[in-house]
Amino acid sequence: MKLEPAYVALGSNLNGPDRQVRAGIEELAMIADTRLSRVSSLYRSAPVGYRDQPDFTNAVARIETALTPRALLDALLAVEQRYGRVRDFPNAPRTLDLDIVLFGDSVVQEPGLTIPHPRMHERAFVLVPLAEIAADAIVPGRGRVSELLARIDSGGLTRMEFPEE
Ligand code: ADP
Ligand code: MG
Repeated sequence: MKLEPAYVALGSNLNGPDRQVRAGIEELAMIADTRLSRVSSLYRSAPVGYRDQPDFTNAVARIETALTPRALLDALLAVEQRYGRVRDFPNAPRTLDLDIVLFGDSVVQEPGLTIPHPRMHERAFVLVPLAEIAADAIVPGRGRVSELLARIDSGGLTRMEFPEE
């Protein structure tokens, strides 16, 4: 079984965001033909875009998977649905958001699936946790994670030293 390393960004700002993100990480470990290999700290971030909503909890996990990118996306969307995510409008509050940020060194551009995630290189809430576990990873077409992070303002993000259980 050929396993590809992939990075999944998790985010939540509803219904106990820390708990949602932790549960999301457990769910990643249970996806078929997939194992969980690394998890970043949890981070708190101010909402981007539509600002009148609660702060987010964010993290990034590394998995090794035998699934195709599309099959992985379908598995993630199924988890999101089970966690009651409602898509009201872009950047709306969400119970659990799961994004594939990197999938090996693959570049995927299909309807409904873009890898690397098209906005990851400008999002502190992705780059900071990603750099914690994969600073040297290369984002195809964009460069090294640590270098992308150095270019953005990551002041709005706080690492949670003692996240509440
Ligand atoms: P965002 O995560 O950018 O805030 P949404 O989660 O609301 O946006 O977008 C969901 C849709 O984005 C999914 O239905 C999926 O088809 C599409 N999508 C495209 N590329 C990806 C990716 N790399 N990871 C996750 N979803 C993606
Ligand atoms: Mg998403």
